[in-house]
Amino acid sequence: MKKGFSRAGLNPSPSEHMHDNKTSISALYDSHVHWLMTGEKKSYFDIQKYRCLSDIAPSDFQPQNYRGGWIFGFGWTDSQLVNANGLKDVDRLSPTSPLCFIKKDAHSCLLNSAALKHILPHIENVPTLQPFIERDSSGALTGVLKESAFYSIYAHIPALSPSEIRRCLLVAQDYFLDNGFTHIRDMTCSMPQWSVLKDMQKNGELKVVADINFNAETSSHALETLIPFALLERATKYRNLNIQGIKIFSDGSLGSNTAWLFENYKGTKQNGIGLWSNEDMLSVMKQCWQNSLEFSVHALGDKAVDSVVDLARSLYSQKIRGYLNLEHVQLLAPETIIKMKSLFVRCHMQPSHWLSDKKFLNEKLNHKTLKNLFAWEALRRAKVPFSFGSDSPIEEASVDLTRIALEDSAQAGIEALQEPFLSFYTYPVTSNDSKLYVTHFENGKVIKVDLPPIHTGN
Ligand SMILES: [Zn+2]
Repeated sequence: MKKGFSRAGLNPSPSEHMHDNKTSISALYDSHVHWLMTGEKKSYFDIQKYRCLSDIAPSDFQPQNYRGGWIFGFGWTDSQLVNANGLKDVDRLSPTSPLCFIKKDAHSCLLNSAALKHILPHIENVPTLQPFIERDSSGALTGVLKESAFYSIYAHIPALSPSEIRRCLLVAQDYFLDNGFTHIRDMTCSMPQWSVLKDMQKNGELKVVADINFNAETSSHALETLIPFALLERATKYRNLNIQGIKIFSDGSLGSNTAWLFENYKGTKQNGIGLWSNEDMLSVMKQCWQNSLEFSVHALGDKAVDSVVDLARSLYSQKIRGYLNLEHVQLLAPETIIKMKSLFVRCHMQPSHWLSDKKFLNEKLNHKTLKNLFAWEALRRAKVPFSFGSDSPIEEASVDLTRIALEDSAQAGIEALQEPFLSFYTYPVTSNDSKLYVTHFENGKVIKVDLPPIHTGN
């Protein structure tokens, strides 16, 4: 049994004392997942197993990689584009059908020319999207769309039908349960997904308990559409579904050089981007809190986290208070932690990102920024609550992968967590109900998951 594994958990069952290699945990919670995309990814073409894009052959695509005439793939990184022109590669793979390869961090995509021809007319004249349409030094398109330009393509590609959404959610539910997770927190629910989820609840198809967050693209999307919708829908209580609030992206990712930092990226004159104006973020935060919805923000860079915390404090000073969830918090300055202590805040961290990102962290980040990486131990010392999760499908939803990441990062000089890590995996809301969900581990592997009887109706 690896250290930290057999002793942890807030609700350990007596069985763990009988055998050192056995542990049972109630309400095992992955605090940051993309439920639908976890299911969708299972049918995407897997780019991760190739050394570079030029190794892929057109005959490698399978029928399930197609959706409405488009080819979808997932998982490329910059290292697979080295010495190559990504656009040329994807045009070779698919000269006529539109193709979309999503980057491993899900903050960028690579489109072929057929897809660009379809998408560009909708986005190239929108000034806020132009900076995210990547061009090379000669001004030619590279095929890469980042952040909001990437997310905007979803309005123009064939949408999933309700039955496809249901199939993907079920596939992902099985995946989470196989990995021991009985509780999840979904970060990117949409109105169509919510209506499928309600049907699944009625039909007795839901086994996991899910906190649901609606993803807002813009402040008007949040204020005019999603918040009124969430309030209306929240009036009905569901056994397995809990509408938690609204989620937005305040910055990007380190992999795409879009995480917003205090310092510049190493060897560059840029420090990433804040994707929302203060005014827009304040208006959504305020509207959420005045309606008892939680406000969740993707904030990965140290500057992004700090600026969200400052905005929250400015509302608190006007006696407008509510729950703030900070997503990823991969970089966090010590002075920001001090400011967090007066807020109802919870950080949602994914240690496994360390294993994916460690390859490029030294290349991309200055010395001063590196010191702010993965500050779980500083948060624990400051008694700021935080939860662990996977960001599935970006990383595998696996407790054991987190254990490996925590051990590996500690060896590389990240301050080690001084508490059994499984304590950060339990559902933060304790109820009698959570005791009915128990995940049994043996030698770090999930061997059995106990669930309450299936529930039909709301
Ligand atoms: Zn995420």
